[in-house]
Amino acid sequence: MKASDSEIVYDLLVVGGGIQGAWLALEAARTGRKVALLERDDFGAGTSANSLKVLHGGLRYLQHGNLKRIRESRRSVKAFRAVAGDWIEEVPFFLETKGSGVRGPWAMRGAFGLFGLLSRIWGDGGKGPQGRVFSGDPTRQVPGGVFSPSANGVARWNEAVMRNSERIVFEVVRAAERCGADCLNYCEVSAIAKVSERWAARVVDRRTGESGTVLANQVVEATGPRVEEEVGNEALSLLRGVNLVFQGTPFGTQAVGLESRDASHDLDALVKRGNRLLFFVPRGDQTMVGTWYDRLEDASAEVTENDLERWLEEIHSVAPDLGFHRRNLRYIHSGLLPADERNELSAQPAKESAILPVTAGRFAVRTVKFTTAPEMARATLEKMGFELAPRLAPTKQTEPPPPPYPWEDLLRSDVDVDPKVLEVAVREEKVVHLDDALLRRSNVALDDFCGEEKFILAATRLGAMLGWDETRRSSEVTRVLDRLRWSKVRPSVEQ
Ligand SMILES: Cc1cc2nc3c(=O)[nH]c(=O)nc-3n(C[C@H](O)[C@H](O)[C@H](O)COP(=O)(O)OP(=O)(O)OC[C@H]3O[C@@H](n4cnc5c(N)ncnc54)[C@H](O)[C@@H]3O)c2cc1C
Repeated sequence: MKASDSEIVYDLLVVGGGIQGAWLALEAARTGRKVALLERDDFGAGTSANSLKVLHGGLRYLQHGNLKRIRESRRSVKAFRAVAGDWIEEVPFFLETKGSGVRGPWAMRGAFGLFGLLSRIWGDGGKGPQGRVFSGDPTRQVPGGVFSPSANGVARWNEAVMRNSERIVFEVVRAAERCGADCLNYCEVSAIAKVSERWAARVVDRRTGESGTVLANQVVEATGPRVEEEVGNEALSLLRGVNLVFQGTPFGTQAVGLESRDASHDLDALVKRGNRLLFFVPRGDQTMVGTWYDRLEDASAEVTENDLERWLEEIHSVAPDLGFHRRNLRYIHSGLLPADERNELSAQPAKESAILPVTAGRFAVRTVKFTTAPEMARATLEKMGFELAPRLAPTKQTEPPPPPYPWEDLLRSDVDVDPKVLEVAVREEKVVHLDDALLRRSNVALDDFCGEEKFILAATRLGAMLGWDETRRSSEVTRVLDRLRWSKVRPSVEQ
């Protein structure tokens, strides 16, 4: 489909192809209605490409006594497994226990017990977190010697971690397409107006510059952190959320939560833990560390060397001598999030996603977690009057077909740039930029820097398919190198 005037009147137009828009399109298309999803860049290129990759099972919301959110998280993780199970793995998380109060081993045992009970009562969230508390010397459970001498045990539970969250956005979009949705990337909605009982969206195809109109009976905007402003509401304060990605996995295949020196001011916590937790999550040969939040009033959207110095120092104070150095930094995930505006003491992200009615037949969604996008989509559509299909569950019948190509192989240090991969990216996923092909459809941001030559070769191959001249090829390579600028291992660039 082209973004030009068309005869079709959609039942629903979804604006914004991050994880939230993708799930809205899938759940709406599953009802048998005619759905269009329009994304101005590439699918998942916004905040959704910048997460710690944890699909939260809901354990953390026990400290807020927020049962609704726990259930929402558990149902959502199950839906993710149904659509993109191959891209999700169980990772054991470890946290030290201290004393005999709320941070002690018995409090954690109580939490795991309660969580298990809720899972059994609800019966719809899949397996529980399988939590256990080990008493005694924590260093016997986790390598690295990072737990404090005053710790009296270790709590362990499992979380679902996305091996590649960007690929998961594509899997949800592909599933929506299989249910009949028309999903277009690089198509920007520049205006929405009511024209005789219908919504008319002005759409600009950013590949060709052509514009056209898409008609729909209802519209939902899932345009990310600035959605409030975009629909004319008062702008929310925003935070910059950042994770650092380092080469190496000093904790092996396990994730570790360590108390940072900064106090936590979580207004909703019934059980206050004291200091903020910094998580170290393995992903392939690398470790993601985060998440840091800063108000946009106090920090620029771009990460600076000063920010980096501050975070490296903080990591060093909790996990010294484990290789989390500047020279091992490979990538920085940085994205904007709505802030918890009630909290004046510390920068905290808003806790709840929200459905924002704009006017009859037009809604918007503010999303605060990747994890809960499936349930948020269902709640929004229900409010819009859709009769929903039963919830997706990871059974044999709903297992997704394998992806069109083993994307993970692309640009691994030992694998040449395979033209077939680029062909599929262009043909099936309508890629128009080299960074869209390499950074969201491959593990290049995950791998150790593999050298500029490979990017030049990939640009030559992609350029041959897309008709690029020399200037365009070199600007595309520059875009990729810029995105990977934090990686210090750049043999052919740095000398
Ligand atoms: C550092 C960091 C770590 C995080 N870690 C986690 C985690 O571990 N687990 C978790 O559950 N959550 C995590 N989150 C939160 C999560 O990433 C976000 O809540 C989620 O990705 C938001 O998705 P979204 O679809 O609402 O927004 P986005 O991904 O920003 O998508 C909105 C899309 O709308 C498009 N758009 C905007 N305007 C238009 C227009 N006019 N026309 C067409 N398209 C338009 C944009 O291009 C964009 O692609 C983290 C966030 C950050 C920043």
